[in-house]
Amino acid sequence: PDFTASNSPFQIPTQDAPLMLHFNENPIGMSLKAQKAAIQAIPMANRYADPAVPPLRKLAADYHKVKEDNILFSAGSSDAIRICIAAHASPETQFVIPDLTYGDGEFFANAYGLKITKIPSNPNNWAIDLNGMQSAVTDYSGPSIVYLVNPNNPTSTIVNSAEVESWIKSKPKGTIFIIDEAYAEFVNNPDYRSVDHLIAEGLDNVLLLKTFSKIHAMAGMRVGYTVATAEKIKQLSIYVEDDALTLSYPSILAATESMKDKPFLQFSKKSNDVAKSIYIDLLKELQLEYLPSETNFIFHRIPGELATFKQRMQEQHILVGRAFPPADGWCRMSIGTPDEMIYVTEKMREFRKKGWV
Ligand code: PLP
Repeated sequence: PDFTASNSPFQIPTQDAPLMLHFNENPIGMSLKAQKAAIQAIPMANRYADPAVPPLRKLAADYHKVKEDNILFSAGSSDAIRICIAAHASPETQFVIPDLTYGDGEFFANAYGLKITKIPSNPNNWAIDLNGMQSAVTDYSGPSIVYLVNPNNPTSTIVNSAEVESWIKSKPKGTIFIIDEAYAEFVNNPDYRSVDHLIAEGLDNVLLLKTFSKIHAMAGMRVGYTVATAEKIKQLSIYVEDDALTLSYPSILAATESMKDKPFLQFSKKSNDVAKSIYIDLLKELQLEYLPSETNFIFHRIPGELATFKQRMQEQHILVGRAFPPADGWCRMSIGTPDEMIYVTEKMREFRKKGWV
């Protein structure tokens, strides 16, 4: 089926319509069923949309094998990060993160005045130092919030699920875990699993964050949610007047249809796998080192300065990821459609001929 019918076919990027490989968005466009539902929601949008939320809440709960009162919606998962931090912030709280991870956690932790504890990753492969993070928690006298993105952004890699689970299950004193699984649906590694089952088992020291921005291709619709025990959800709810009112009618109905649209979700995963393999083949051909990607982006080395590479790509109307210090000489390339990645590989070969990569 032609799921991408609503997207225009591949066109050579131009200054006005560049190839957007810089924000880890999903290039295939929303599910057509979701698009239709969003359009149909517009005439109803003079009313508050909260009565439309229960079916979506049920779908989200079923997806994680939890109950409806384990779900708290937010306008994207970035706001869920804020809510989870707000509900656990105190003047003594430290916020523990690896040095290379998604920035919104640190952003909100700063806003709430937390002490940021960054644990350096291995500079060769940017592997997260889980033991180092554990020590930071153990050695600290006050409460800790651990923010772990798995798979991680910008590195695209996973940390071992069993190790994460056993750390959470060990219930370190005064510690809450925020586990951000924005990219989980793209993972291929069979050892990976969501922490959702820990919540189903009643563990109350873990908050799982999910977004519709990635596998569902709905970044502009702003839908995300937190999964946690009912008690925890109540605690978080102090920072959200009514979660059903944080979503718009088009967003709710689109998200509901997207969750039901299994063929679309399969296509979304498949398109990413195919496009990613095209780019990985190129990286192998050019012998550019890359990290094993479990997401819709890939972190790879480029010779020289990222700024120069970024500028040269921009001259070709291709936008690539920003700098992620301390990872100098690495580029985060979001995965486009297969056609888009073929185009990028052609440009990369031209760059190689010029000695630029
Ligand atoms: N968490 C991670 C790890 C992300 O990479 C992103 C977006 O790139 C988000 C959360 C934010 O997603 P949302 O669009 O749901 O706010």
